[in-house]
Amino acid sequence: QAKAEGRNAVRFFDPRMQEAVMARAALEVDLRNGLAEKQFVLHYQPQVNADGRVIGAEALLRWQHPERGLVAPVELISLAEDVGLIVPLGQWVIETAFAQLAAWGAQPDRAHLNLAVNVSAHQFRSADFVSQVLAALEATGTNPHHIKLELTESSLIDSVEHVIGTMLALKELGIHFSLDDFGTGYSSLGLLKRLPIEELKIDRGFVRDILHDASDAAIARTVVALGESFGLSVIAEGVETVEQRDFLHGIGCREFQGNLFSKALALPEFEAFMTKQ
Ligand code: C2E
Ligand code: MG
Ligand code: MG
Ligand code: MG
Repeated sequence: QAKAEGRNAVRFFDPRMQEAVMARAALEVDLRNGLAEKQFVLHYQPQVNADGRVIGAEALLRWQHPERGLVAPVELISLAEDVGLIVPLGQWVIETAFAQLAAWGAQPDRAHLNLAVNVSAHQFRSADFVSQVLAALEATGTNPHHIKLELTESSLIDSVEHVIGTMLALKELGIHFSLDDFGTGYSSLGLLKRLPIEELKIDRGFVRDILHDASDAAIARTVVALGESFGLSVIAEGVETVEQRDFLHGIGCREFQGNLFSKALALPEFEAFMTKQ
């Protein structure tokens, strides 16, 4: 045991290892700067109903780094969680998304839009999450009924009671919840029954081969059936082809998101996309 630890300790001084540590430290500094210098932006991916009408969007975080270019959000979120910056970054996402929704709310042809906002597990568990959301609602005056917070199943693994308590407090404010990447995690039907959610989101991983993979198709069918039994709406993400869309529609899915309709767009392009409709 000691020997193994000793080896690990030595490995820290491995130049490649040291390089990786330095690179991450540099990225952390950049992330702090990025927050201060407002290098982050939200893109909006349309969500459509069975008629193809845009009913809302998912806000997706983008970091346009001055030298690194666009940093993948998964990488960005995990870095922010590791270095303790997820709360301020997540707060920025919430404030920006709510402000945008408030702006749409004031425009007659956009007032119907819903906005889905991703919340990471760490962010959701932070002690003042509810008060942050409340503050953002008050500051922007946006309609909470048009907000869907997306949680993944991994947010629900431990301290379930606490998580459900937080969800109920937010639901009390009028906020809705969607379970993102549904089917990829470990949540049980017993847990699902207890969650105050309005929507299940079929993960992209099941949509990709839905026409050719019988198991993926069976999973998608099950999610739709679960939605029906629990009175939840079901949306499919990652829809790329008409055939996938039609298959999903055929099994009873009524809402869709994916590159078939549009990829995530910067605000002006999203608004132009809506107008074009
Ligand atoms: P997600 O919440 O499951 O978001 C859907 C991802 O699938 C997005 O990737 C979107 O661009 C991509 N996507 C949608 N339709 C298609 C399609 O038809 N084909 C393909 N190939 N991809 C499609 P993105 O923007 O890279 O985000 C990745 C993940 O990063 C998100 O997965 C979410 O977990 C996380 N994320 C993004 N923005 C935020 C944020 O503001 N806060 C938090 N906590 N997480 C975020
Ligand atoms: Mg999402
Ligand atoms: Mg998703
Ligand atoms: Mg996904």
